Amino acid sequence: MKIIKKTAVIAAAGLLFALCFSGCVSAQEPVTRTVFAMDTVITLTAYGKHADEALDAAVQKLNEYDTLLDVDSGDIGNINTHAGEFVQVGEEVYRLLSDCVELSRQTDGAFDITVGRYVDLWGFRSQTRVSSDEEIAEAADFVGWEKIELADGKIKIPTGMQLDLGAVAKGWAAGKLKEVIAEYGVESAILSLGGNVTTLGKKPDGTLFNVAIRDPDDPDAYLDSVQVSDLAVVTSGSYMRYFDQDGVRYHHIIDPKTGKPAESGLVSVTVMCTDDTAADALATAFFVMGAQKTADYLQTKPDIKVILVTSQGEILRIN
Ligand code: ADP
Ligand code: MG
Repeated sequence: MKIIKKTAVIAAAGLLFALCFSGCVSAQEPVTRTVFAMDTVITLTAYGKHADEALDAAVQKLNEYDTLLDVDSGDIGNINTHAGEFVQVGEEVYRLLSDCVELSRQTDGAFDITVGRYVDLWGFRSQTRVSSDEEIAEAADFVGWEKIELADGKIKIPTGMQLDLGAVAKGWAAGKLKEVIAEYGVESAILSLGGNVTTLGKKPDGTLFNVAIRDPDDPDAYLDSVQVSDLAVVTSGSYMRYFDQDGVRYHHIIDPKTGKPAESGLVSVTVMCTDDTAADALATAFFVMGAQKTADYLQTKPDIKVILVTSQGEILRIN
């Protein structure tokens, strides 16, 4: 009797194991979508039985956000074409713009979404070209985050100013997509939007997600990797978008104080923190600020971890 019972228990346990094993394996299969949006290749990966529907919803949202934050369309385009007037925007965009202003304040203007005129001047939206000092001085009158007016869901920028959300759009979208995916009950996902990676939970086997950090000298190679869960990992680098003229490299991260590509001695900045929007904005800001000012800023913010690569090839880790 005892023996039979034991055999039955073993058989039942075996069946349970087989069921769980097959179930667990299918739940652990990653589901992936690759799309081109926000000017970059985006790969969304999720695990679990609701991964498929969650990713379908995320792709749909992504296209909405792409239009919403574009300089020429959606709410941001609307603000730009109606510069000089108060423009009503959606609740999400109002929140984002308020956060952007706060991030400008915190970084002493190193991050500034009003750099649109400079970005146009250097042509990073179309044909690239070197700008003259006169052109920069003229555009400077239409740059400055302090001139943004926000009140009761409406925003006004001065006539001539142009907003450019390129430095936060992908980070913000990554955070929003993570929320969408989580609403479907997904507990494990990794979303990669160009240099913006964000993670939801851990991998289904309980291990951390591995995020590789590109070598600025060889964008096909990796310099380092970090193991994370529930964290954004955002990299801004001068190697991502640039042009060379007469032996000089001009890249797409502008120092709002000079109107020219930032020269802070850094070639790559990686920021890791729980807030996706802040991670993206800060990666751009730290690139402008350079190593010393970044270290000063981070002294009171131990939850934000940073990896800097200097033009000398040095790797500096802060926090
Ligand atoms: P990427 O878009 O390559 O991920 P960033 O997040 O650093 O890189 O954003 C750079 C983009 O943000 C530029 O292409 C430009 O549109 C805009 N931008 C450039 N300099 C600044 C700045 N100092 N503050 C805010 N936005 C900026
Ligand atoms: Mg950025």
